Amino acid sequence: MEKQLDKILRRVQKPGRYSGGEWNAVRKDWQSTDVKMAFAFPDVYEVGMSHLGLQILYGMVNDREDALLERVFAPWPDMEEQLRNTGLPLTSLESRRPLRDFDIIGFTLQYELSFTNILNMLDLAGIPLRSADRAGGDYPLVVAGGPCAFNPEPIADFIDVFVIGEGEEAVNELLDAYLSARRSGEGRRDLLLRLAGCDGFYVPSLYRVEYNEQGTVHMVTPVGKNVPALVRKRVVADMDAAYFPTRMVVPAIESVHDRAMLEVQRGCTRGCRFCQAGVIYRPVREKEPQTLLRHAGELLCSTGWGEISLTSLSTSDYSRVAPLVSELIKQHGPAGVNVSLPSLRVDAFSVGLAREVQKVRRSSLTFAPEAGTQRLRDVINKGVTEDNLMEAVEAAFTAGWHSIKLYFMIGLPTETDEDLHGIANLARRVLNKGHALVRAKGRLKVTVSVSSFVPKSHTAFQWEPQNTMAELKRKQALLRDLLRGRGLVFKWHDPQSSFLEAVLSRGDRRLAPAIEAAWQNGARFDGWSEFFDLGKWQRAFESTGVDPRWYAYHRYEYNDTLPWDHISAGVSKKYLVREHRRSMEGAITPDCRNGRCPGCGLCTTLATKPYLAGGETVAPLPDTVQ
Ligand code: SF4
Repeated sequence: MEKQLDKILRRVQKPGRYSGGEWNAVRKDWQSTDVKMAFAFPDVYEVGMSHLGLQILYGMVNDREDALLERVFAPWPDMEEQLRNTGLPLTSLESRRPLRDFDIIGFTLQYELSFTNILNMLDLAGIPLRSADRAGGDYPLVVAGGPCAFNPEPIADFIDVFVIGEGEEAVNELLDAYLSARRSGEGRRDLLLRLAGCDGFYVPSLYRVEYNEQGTVHMVTPVGKNVPALVRKRVVADMDAAYFPTRMVVPAIESVHDRAMLEVQRGCTRGCRFCQAGVIYRPVREKEPQTLLRHAGELLCSTGWGEISLTSLSTSDYSRVAPLVSELIKQHGPAGVNVSLPSLRVDAFSVGLAREVQKVRRSSLTFAPEAGTQRLRDVINKGVTEDNLMEAVEAAFTAGWHSIKLYFMIGLPTETDEDLHGIANLARRVLNKGHALVRAKGRLKVTVSVSSFVPKSHTAFQWEPQNTMAELKRKQALLRDLLRGRGLVFKWHDPQSSFLEAVLSRGDRRLAPAIEAAWQNGARFDGWSEFFDLGKWQRAFESTGVDPRWYAYHRYEYNDTLPWDHISAGVSKKYLVREHRRSMEGAITPDCRNGRCPGCGLCTTLATKPYLAGGETVAPLPDTVQ
């Protein structure tokens, strides 16, 4: 088979996507290793290799003597064609073994528009798509985790076990449970029951879902002993003690992020009401600068990368960011290593940081005010004022940047045309500021990039409908008109793909036949504009009797059972209701990082708490915690 694989690699666009053998890749002895797991990334190599979670689990599992973890990525359409024409199965990069030979296949669910790639990968591996069809055979256990596992229902029929929350907390338990089940001769169902009894493991086949006549979920009932009614997420309690991969695999071909990734903290407590990551990665846990400096040194030494990126949901919120950046530059700058900050807060402090790390000014700096008026920014709890933005852009133009990118979202709850005019006014104010401060006026550019609001599970806006596609198109057209003129650039996101994202984000188990039909219609790489085709999905919805508009446009009531209510991110529903009500009043809720706990419920539910570097804890006020 190896020879045949080599042959087809000569016929594809980028053979490096499938060849393996990269620096720091691990190839363990197949025969003598007890449990074999494949990490399946349902997108192309260049995207998957930029994912920190992959590097963490790869290092963790391969450090165990009794287990191995190999990688597999979604084959690009040219590779899929070759595999189908030759009848070769999908194989891992390390040993080039068929996926079918592994004991466990773990998919990561980073975005909903990768769901059809999961089906495609299973099919190319010769593994039945549906969990029920794998029950009787000796098939690998199909596991999935990542952000989309917080509403796992649309793909519940295809997955045996979901891991809810942070993978490094759960992966060793998964492997141990697998090994003990095998040693005691347990069958697949016994293993599933065993896992369902462990914190953070959700086995969808052990839950029965009933629906109301109006279409909403009536009830989700666990079936089986020790199967919990509510599955709570797993959280790493101590980020400094947690595993961190200091021997990351260096991609063979240019990747989206081809640099060392140093995770400075996990979680964000700013509480933007549309943001799912802000809820599912709570609480904030900062690493100690000494830990980070040690990891950075080891990482740069083992990989040879010339750039280190300080990653997190909001890096400039890390309490020791300035001294850390200075120390990294001091220690590694002389060797030509650059430091980069992927996410900037909208303020002058962040621009100062960017200035320190970018000795040579890159062309543009990005800020995300998200909404055009203070009223709407208060509705979404963005906590950014126009003054913050103007101070930040003034600092940026003064420091030599001549191009500013501004990210906004349209279709947010309560939005009116006044808010869209607010976006255009803000962009013009930024442009005017640039005219006053930038010498090379011809190079001055303000780019307004607009995405469409997608209501996500576990957020304060989970009950809200999405704007219709027609309404989003009208709003985009209005903005296009308002943003005409020299120095202004307008970019927007395709409302059709946002619509599908909303359907899949808010969906339930009744979507499974439609997802399968879309895959049969040829849907692949739906997150890629060159492949996305809503027509394939529309035909799939029609043929399976699913009304996608109901899922995207339905307004849920507070007392409805939501399809994901049996999955807990630790934040109470009572808190989310309160946050939703406060948003409608335009009331701001403060960040608990500053010592005032607004009572999201997480610290009491998960017996954990936010903490900062230096041992500073963010003490919740007991009387306000729900
Ligand atoms: S319970 Fe309070 S302190 Fe803990 S994460 Fe929630 S808001 Fe922050």
